[in-house]
Amino acid sequence: MFIISSQQMLKKAQAEHYAVPAFNIHNLETMQVIVATAAEYQSPVILAGTPGTYSYAGTENIIAIAGALAAKHKLPLALHLDHHESYDDITHKINSGIRSVMIDGSHAAFSDNIAIVKQVVDYAHRFDVSVEAELGRLGGQEDDLIVDSKDALYTNPQQAAEFIDKTGIDSLAIAIGTAHGMYKSTPKLDFERLSHIRSAVDVPLVLHGASGLTDNDVRECIKRGICKVNVATELKIAFSDALKQYFIDHPEANDPRDYMKPAKAAMQHIVAKIIDTCGSAGKL
Ligand SMILES: [Zn+2]
Repeated sequence: MFIISSQQMLKKAQAEHYAVPAFNIHNLETMQVIVATAAEYQSPVILAGTPGTYSYAGTENIIAIAGALAAKHKLPLALHLDHHESYDDITHKINSGIRSVMIDGSHAAFSDNIAIVKQVVDYAHRFDVSVEAELGRLGGQEDDLIVDSKDALYTNPQQAAEFIDKTGIDSLAIAIGTAHGMYKSTPKLDFERLSHIRSAVDVPLVLHGASGLTDNDVRECIKRGICKVNVATELKIAFSDALKQYFIDHPEANDPRDYMKPAKAAMQHIVAKIIDTCGSAGKL
């Protein structure tokens, strides 16, 4: 009962001009930190896992932990499939209890992207599952998916309208100059393009690759219509750096209940910061 689709939370964000943060999870500890922090700030939140994360931790394990944390904190959670590409994989996870999915056909030709996304939408909507798709391509790397930055293509507003019309998706991830992973140089975002896309379509818009953007850039994107902000790398770095430092300071440490504490605290700080940037506190 606590695992919901992203549909209502993103529509509310769109109407009230803030963004729902979507944080990538990897294990029990990262899920604990994200849900507890979202509950503390009464922020809607999306827990996102790549195919690699679901196979690492086990889909049933992730669903069980998310359900237990949601009930404990009385917080409805969208447990989301981030960058999934296989129809069979997605439908299997929907059958297991997932209610929010991303089908990423952005690497395929426009017509092929429409075909695979439409197929997923037709299945997902029978189960009240929300579907995000991507048009255009981001630079950088998300798990196994590598895109040469120079070949990254920005989203075309007219194509976006046609894409949504033909697929029936609930939200659209767009490419306006962001990349996955940390940035080697300061990215220059195409805000004008974002505004054009916003006026050409009516579904919530999603920003991938927010790690390493300035708070001002993220806020400007939200002002211009972004309703979901994805953050992965920034959390991983905070968690791992604190963990590494703990072992440097305590080389004899061997108890996860001790050495996970500073890692979780460092991550908690970033989660709270992103909730603030998204303007989602108190928006449950
Ligand atoms: Zn992404």
